[in-house]
Amino acid sequence: MSKVLVIGCGAVATVAIQKVAQNHETFSEMIIASRTLSKCQAFAEKLNSDKIKVTAEQLDADVVENIVKMIEKHNPDVVLNVALPYQNIPIMEACIQTKTHYVDTACAEVRDHAGFEYGTQWVYDQKFKEAGVMALLGSGFDPGVTSVFSMYAKKHYFDTIDTIDILDANGGDHGYPFATNFNPEINIREITLPGRYYENGKYVTVPALSKKHTYPLAEIGHRDMYLMYHEEIESLARFIPEVKRIRFYMSFGESYLRHLFALQNVGMTSVKPITFQGQEIVPLQFLRAVLPDPASLGPRTVGKTNIGCIVSGKKDGVKKNYYVYNTCDHQEAYKETGSQAVAYTTGVPAMIGTALIAKGIWKGAGVFNMEQFDPDPFMDMLNKWGLPWKENFDPVMVPDDEN
Ligand code: NDP
Repeated sequence: MSKVLVIGCGAVATVAIQKVAQNHETFSEMIIASRTLSKCQAFAEKLNSDKIKVTAEQLDADVVENIVKMIEKHNPDVVLNVALPYQNIPIMEACIQTKTHYVDTACAEVRDHAGFEYGTQWVYDQKFKEAGVMALLGSGFDPGVTSVFSMYAKKHYFDTIDTIDILDANGGDHGYPFATNFNPEINIREITLPGRYYENGKYVTVPALSKKHTYPLAEIGHRDMYLMYHEEIESLARFIPEVKRIRFYMSFGESYLRHLFALQNVGMTSVKPITFQGQEIVPLQFLRAVLPDPASLGPRTVGKTNIGCIVSGKKDGVKKNYYVYNTCDHQEAYKETGSQAVAYTTGVPAMIGTALIAKGIWKGAGVFNMEQFDPDPFMDMLNKWGLPWKENFDPVMVPDDEN
């Protein structure tokens, strides 16, 4: 039986925390530590039972020393970081110092520069090795399940993989003209970056949201999918070395893009500080403060998400295509956890990665990506814990982009 320290108590954490509590065969104790103590206390009161002990703590996880003290106080087996990408590096540092396993759901970022590369976390590999513990990077849906899907395809259906197209579509409607389904600051930083894909050993960069395909997705219909950069492109290219091309597409509706472009054009998505009435503010952080809190979208979001990977390659010399995906209903996710499907599809895999480490099924010393482990136990747990997946052996392929 294991003890987990969950850091962060926002939209994704809301789901991860409840899934940890449901998985009392693996977890006997959970400490929830975040910036706002009252949110952690509310979960501790609701979930504490004779099956799992749940306690709440206040923590500023920007400061390594605070995290070290928190880990030393509770001595968890594993730390699940579902705070923000800004906290990845301080939490990793604290895990090295205290020799504690680490899990996160998104690549590390710094506040004053939009962009992300796994290199900033891979450099800690030797230190995690020396500490004799592991860091598991990107155990959300994308990144996370998309990497596991790709490795499952490779293990069971392909000798060599030529292409991977990751399709992340949200067919949900929350009724607001503009809102983001997870942390607005992190979401808008990611979407406004130039698009980037991997081809023949190199990255090809294109202007943000400049490549679009309309794709027919199971259970949610045709969606406009836009090419974007996403961190699993980097890890998939590293761990499936023969792959020729990896692209990532996300769906956006017209209203979302109209608002996004207008906000961008007036400078509201900038991460460069400005002086306003004698005070320094970051426009994007101000925008975040006026947008709906993603954690509040649950009751009003209807429809489904559909996220998956279309893989092409060869088996026994024969060319083949394969599509593996999950669909998740916003209202069903809300009924179970009080959160919409975007938080649900991230929080469930965050718990699964943490549980696989806690049970010693995924193990090692160093910094690891999801691609480095046997995908089968993870795939089984997706079916068990609320994210069942489906396969299609004759998928519609995403066309080549015109340059
Ligand atoms: P939220 O903004 O809803 O929650 C973030 C939480 O972290 C809040 O509880 C916040 O505290 C807390 N926090 C922020 N700063 C600190 C700090 N310095 N110390 C302690 N706690 C802090 O974000 P989401 O739940 O939407 O996102 C969580 C993570 O999940 C992000 O890293 C995001 O990138 C990732 N993600 C991954 C996805 C995937 O599929 N892989 C998809 C979606 C998200 P407070 O409550 O006080 O604000």
